[in-house]
Amino acid sequence: MQLRAVPDLPEIRPGDDLAALLAERVDLDPGSVLCLASTVVSKAEGRFAALSEYPAGPRAREIATRLEEHTGEEKDPRFAQAVLEESTEIITEAPFLLTETHFGHTCVNAGIDRSNTGGEDLLLLPKRPSESAARLSEALSVPVIVTDTCGRPFRHGQRGVAIGWAGMAASRDWRGERDRDGRELGVTVENVIDELAAAANLVAGEGAGGVPAVVVEGFEFGKMDGSDEHFRDVEDDYVRQALRGWSHE
Ligand code: GDP
Ligand code: MN
Ligand code: MN
Repeated sequence: MQLRAVPDLPEIRPGDDLAALLAERVDLDPGSVLCLASTVVSKAEGRFAALSEYPAGPRAREIATRLEEHTGEEKDPRFAQAVLEESTEIITEAPFLLTETHFGHTCVNAGIDRSNTGGEDLLLLPKRPSESAARLSEALSVPVIVTDTCGRPFRHGQRGVAIGWAGMAASRDWRGERDRDGRELGVTVENVIDELAAAANLVAGEGAGGVPAVVVEGFEFGKMDGSDEHFRDVEDDYVRQALRGWSHE
């Protein structure tokens, strides 16, 4: 398997035809997978915002004050307001704002970026990343994964995750296959889109590198018994259930 950065992509602006910009720069073999940083999908979709568009309501002001107490840093209540508007559920308010976005992804600050925003205050995540991925996948005839860089519990540091995908299953289901000792695997459903997103993120980097698109070549999904489950439902998400109880104390 090889990962290749798509070279020379310009600064992406609202209305840009990402599929065309990509097709001009890279030949996509039918077997490859395209990983695309959500940043550029958002830019093409015009998901820029100014803080002035989010006059803070009482809840946002309360959250900002609480965050200030926890972190000792000044927090703009308008940013908290933007996060609230991009979210369906607030899971924790402090020491950081962990929410579920409208499309089911759980992350800090609803994934709203304040870096690589093309000079605007804020860049929101794509509204429906899997739908964005589907349009790009259709146009380019390869599977597409939309990625973002996220923190994770239990470990320091951030890594790439898949927030939208199309043209391939989310996971490879190993259940029913055998290990080296002949034992049948009972639980392993390998989330391939996150693994590819993490690999692509490694190539993309986080700064000024200008590499939002990475092509994965030669990846063998294997005997593809797939599953499209990705974001957990609340009922089987015990960590979230525990956090809900914790944050409301
Ligand atoms: P995120 O992980 O989706 O939030 O995106 P990042 O801000 O970490 O950027 C990922 C990669 O895309 C980095 O290499 C950035 O330099 C690059 N990048 C971000 N915006 C643009 C853009 O408009 N054009 C190009 N060519 N690269 C960009
Ligand atoms: Mn981001
Ligand atoms: Mn990133």
